[in-house]
Amino acid sequence: MGSEKEFLKSVENKIEGIEIHFDQDLTKFSTIKLHSVGNLVIVKNEFALQQLINEIKKSKLQYKILGWGANILLPENLPWIAIQLKFDFDKTYLDSVRDVYELPASVSLAVLTSTASKLGLKGWEVFTGIPASLGGAIFMNAGTNLGEIGSLITEVKYLDKNSEIKTHLIDDSSFSYRKNNFLKEGEVILSAKLKHFGIDENLKILIKDYLEKRNNSQPMNQNTCGCIFKNSNMGDISCRAGHYVDIIGMKGFTLGGVRVSHKHGNFLENFGGSSYSETMELMKLLQAEMKLQFGVNFEFEVEH
Ligand SMILES: Cc1cc2nc3c(=O)[nH]c(=O)nc-3n(C[C@H](O)[C@H](O)[C@H](O)COP(=O)(O)OP(=O)(O)OC[C@H]3O[C@@H](n4cnc5c(N)ncnc54)[C@H](O)[C@@H]3O)c2cc1C
Repeated sequence: MGSEKEFLKSVENKIEGIEIHFDQDLTKFSTIKLHSVGNLVIVKNEFALQQLINEIKKSKLQYKILGWGANILLPENLPWIAIQLKFDFDKTYLDSVRDVYELPASVSLAVLTSTASKLGLKGWEVFTGIPASLGGAIFMNAGTNLGEIGSLITEVKYLDKNSEIKTHLIDDSSFSYRKNNFLKEGEVILSAKLKHFGIDENLKILIKDYLEKRNNSQPMNQNTCGCIFKNSNMGDISCRAGHYVDIIGMKGFTLGGVRVSHKHGNFLENFGGSSYSETMELMKLLQAEMKLQFGVNFEFEVEH
């Protein structure tokens, strides 16, 4: 982190619109809350991000965008500069019905869900209850059994690998299960256009019911990172990872401060200050056990 700090000190007063936090405790920057420390840069506008990433690239350092931290395990000592986007956004923009909404990557899905509920924006129920920034949700095509966010996106503005601002028009090949197929490594989503499928007066009820079901089936008030495994397929049979964890009797299995949730087998709960290495150990153990018992290789959904 030595040369990272020198670099960050050298850009601190050069770039307007960034805020640097050296040796920041990042434990609360991911929803599973594993202990983590690193250098964090809060970026307040697109131009500042463009300048910052240009400089980072010249210095050959590593960086990663941190959204809501709901799909990532942060290591004890970050080997990269964490960049968090906090672009200005006037929430009154969401007060009225529009055909298409152009939104910054840093806006939270919770804000969009409450807009959907208030205005009845049909289609937006697909991301009900997913803790995420819009950028993070688009990056991994987040979704529920109601659908995926990719189905609502029409355009994504992003910073490409040469730090130029580009627009990607969404087509049928832009997204697949829990991933986007258009961003290259290091590229950053700046904003996106979201459509809806008209107005549904009953959407509020659908969202409320869905949230209730989620609260009953997932450990929403624990420190988790969502599903650790992607679901898989065995020929034509779809295999839900949580189900398989349940069948092998590993719900509740505990390793130090982390355990497999009793409520949902695809969730780990950090109940006692678990570490990155301990959590990884439990994830790998579950993965190996399922491969051994069923011959299915469940891929990790959570980034690590
Ligand atoms: C309780 C709980 C329930 C969950 N339920 C669901 C669910 O039902 N469905 C589902 O799909 N997921 C679910 N998740 C996982 C998580 O909410 C999603 O994966 C979400 O999309 C992560 O968004 P984020 O902003 O937190 O991204 P982060 O976890 O911060 O980052 C994830 C990846 O996205 C990249 N990224 C973030 N922002 C940008 C950007 N602007 N440009 C480029 N790359 C970016 C990061 O660099 C990283 O590689 C759940 C998580 C929790 C904790």
